[in-house]
Amino acid sequence: MFDILFKNICVVNPEVDCPVIANAYVGVRDGKIAYLSQTETQDIAARVIDGTDKALIPGLVNTHTHAAMSVLRGYADDHNLQDWLHNYVFPAEAKLDEECVYVGTQLAIAEMIRTGTVSITDMYMYIPAVAKAAYETGIYANITNAALVFDRDGYRMEKDNSYIQMEQLRRDWHNIDNGRIKLDSGIHAEYTSFERVWRDYADYAKQYGLNMQLHLSETKFEHDSCIQKYGKTPARVLCDAGVFDTRTTAAHCVWLTLEDMDILRDKGVTVAHNPVSNLKLASGIARVSDMLSRGVNVALGTDGVCSNNSHDMFEEMKLCALLQKGTTLDPKCVNACQALSLATTAGAYAQGRENSLGLIKVGFDASMAMIDLDVPQLTPVHNPLSTVVYSASGRDVCMTMVRGKVLYENGEFITIDMDKIKSRLYGYVMPRVFGIHR
Ligand SMILES: [Zn+2]
Repeated sequence: MFDILFKNICVVNPEVDCPVIANAYVGVRDGKIAYLSQTETQDIAARVIDGTDKALIPGLVNTHTHAAMSVLRGYADDHNLQDWLHNYVFPAEAKLDEECVYVGTQLAIAEMIRTGTVSITDMYMYIPAVAKAAYETGIYANITNAALVFDRDGYRMEKDNSYIQMEQLRRDWHNIDNGRIKLDSGIHAEYTSFERVWRDYADYAKQYGLNMQLHLSETKFEHDSCIQKYGKTPARVLCDAGVFDTRTTAAHCVWLTLEDMDILRDKGVTVAHNPVSNLKLASGIARVSDMLSRGVNVALGTDGVCSNNSHDMFEEMKLCALLQKGTTLDPKCVNACQALSLATTAGAYAQGRENSLGLIKVGFDASMAMIDLDVPQLTPVHNPLSTVVYSASGRDVCMTMVRGKVLYENGEFITIDMDKIKSRLYGYVMPRVFGIHR
């Protein structure tokens, strides 16, 4: 007996040899994919879903976001990163409290599950509120409060707010619900801290077997300043401080040298590529094609929506593929299958979830998104993989499930009370942070 059985559905996986299984039967039992075949099963199911004119893809993994920044959506556009950060983002963020972060994170996750994302790698503050928000929505989350320390003389790790928040998360939330919520260690970036901080947070990761998160070589200014300061690139200087000794996700990596790419490959570091954010902040275009050909694991992220301004991973998939074709003048570069794998299996590896997430495969978690193909913008379907990557948008997702539990279906959020979130957003967050009363 299955909990849910999809009948006659088109399964699209990021697998080179067999990306599409047409007219498939997918059985879900106890949160796992228990059956996948073109042969009809005789087992009964508590719920049967007719998959005619639908595609089923592995749930998407967003490997770099600051979810609670959804409250800053559209607040600061058309600035470069330094101006954007110091004159807009930091002053607004200074007014955020735990409640704002909780509301912002739930709002972001609503958008994510609405657009097929099932797992996030999040870096923010007030992380126990992030964990609570993520836990309640049913999404998977790897969460860090990355260290950001400027005061060299006054720095003591045990007094550092990031550390205090991470410890709280580790005690109260780490590995809860069978690893659905995880604490990561993290440093914000090379330019926002110094070697003792890097070593402390890397040691903390090693001590508890945590992953690391950081921003790396996002802008040319940051990359060049590091070389001036240390005589080494950010990747080299952080590698030498032991930062990459546990599984690490490095966001952006726009200005990596070829040697930097080799360091990341050798240390098993994942690059979280954020093409929309990098273009919007005019940071540049990451050389994903070079990274992939050198064997670096590249995944995709949206970054916070204050620099995007959406959490739709379909945009990242398509744009990533197009940018690499356009910059290498090679139309085969980052093909549809590769683009989908960046958004699924590569992200699952980055989060340490590669044995349960990223593929529609028997034994894996039933964490998937269903796409309605019976709409003009996706008609006709010559190749379902191509339709998913190059034609579909997050708005074409009609159902998202995590571990067999439906979180979103046909306009309905099952785990999120959108009216409550909106009333807290307009009743509390907007007046507090922006002085806007509705
Ligand atoms: Zn970021």
